[in-house]
Amino acid sequence: MFENLNLEKRLLKGVKSMGYNEPTPIQKETIPLVLAGRDVVGCAQTGTGKTAAFILPILQRLGRGHGVRCLVVTPTRELALQIDEVARYFARFTGHRCMAVYGGVAYEPQVRRLHRGIDLLVATPGRLLDIQRHGDVDLGRVETLVLDEADRMLDMGFWPDVRRIIGKLPGNRQNLLFSATMSPQVLAVIGSTLNKPVHVEIGRSATPVPAVVQSVYPVNGGQKSELLIELIEKRGLDRVLVFTRTKYRADRVNQMLGRKGIRSALIHSNRSQSQRQMALDGFKNGQFRVLVATDIVSRGIDVENISYVINFDMPTNPEDYVHRIGRTARAGASGAAISFVAAEECEELRSIEGLIGATLSCEDMEGFSYDHRTMPDPHREIVAKTRRLAYNGRARAAWGSRIRPRPACSR
Ligand code: AMP
Repeated sequence: MFENLNLEKRLLKGVKSMGYNEPTPIQKETIPLVLAGRDVVGCAQTGTGKTAAFILPILQRLGRGHGVRCLVVTPTRELALQIDEVARYFARFTGHRCMAVYGGVAYEPQVRRLHRGIDLLVATPGRLLDIQRHGDVDLGRVETLVLDEADRMLDMGFWPDVRRIIGKLPGNRQNLLFSATMSPQVLAVIGSTLNKPVHVEIGRSATPVPAVVQSVYPVNGGQKSELLIELIEKRGLDRVLVFTRTKYRADRVNQMLGRKGIRSALIHSNRSQSQRQMALDGFKNGQFRVLVATDIVSRGIDVENISYVINFDMPTNPEDYVHRIGRTARAGASGAAISFVAAEECEELRSIEGLIGATLSCEDMEGFSYDHRTMPDPHREIVAKTRRLAYNGRARAAWGSRIRPRPACSR
């Protein structure tokens, strides 16, 4: 019950009007800690309710004052916008002012709003540093710092920027760090920046969110497009998020879907902010049946009721698999993740299975005319390569389609 978390009445009103009945596990654990002023390290990915887990207690502690007193640093514009949306929603009940600053859009309007007075600022690192260098924001009053998706910021090379930002903040502040995975680099950051943090691990998993049914569709690289069309059309799939390895391939898949009359939109880092927003909005409101994306934006996509995530290409970084499929089955809904695996992607599959601690079941699309001469058998190939697993034909039939992943957040 949210009522047991020591949240003020006005925030409880906000929670209720947002339609949340029960706190999610991360909210149950994190809210009291943040309210008590502790530094927190949360091992949780998007989709667990982590945004409200930090926004609610922060707003309660923010009080009245001047200038930016809470700073949330996050790697992508999409995430910044989503966090800002949640913050502004709840801030209506406390009277605080929130905004997001991020690159790729005009500088001046952001700064004009900033000058009018902001209590909680959500920012991507580059734009925030720009604004700070121009003297358009004073970070000297920040009481709470949130580093969201810390592992992603490290992967994307933002860490030097983040360190610079931290250097501008008062030493005496509360720190909250969220990360889907706890790599040695993230742990090093925690050791040097945080003050006796309490660790909160949610789901204890790399989580394939439990309700995600995952399967592998072995297919030749050259037949992936055909298979995608067949899956979408024959099974009548709707609200499908398709991931490709490169922007170029995302463009191609999007065009190919368009040619087949399937309403689809495209989102990757070469698209302008307004193009990305239009794609996301159109996907959210049902105008587009399919959204084609690359990994760079996978974490930022918070769309309810995504039914299918299709990995058109396997990600080279196994953790991206977890992030991709975390886009479906959010907040308790169910979803499915389908991975197209070509022969040359068997290594990637093996790494993913190693990370999640499970073997994914292989399936064929009924009625699809596979080119069997060069069909990959991911698990047989892996066996051949690693000689670690015993393969037999019966095992393939016996693999369940639901898997129980092993935790990836071990420290
Ligand atoms: P997040 O992990 O913050 O991106 O949240 C994922 C989704 O879960 C968002 O659509 C939230 O609105 C939703 N959500 C967060 N907390 C709750 C809750 N206690 N009950 C139901 N939905 C929630």
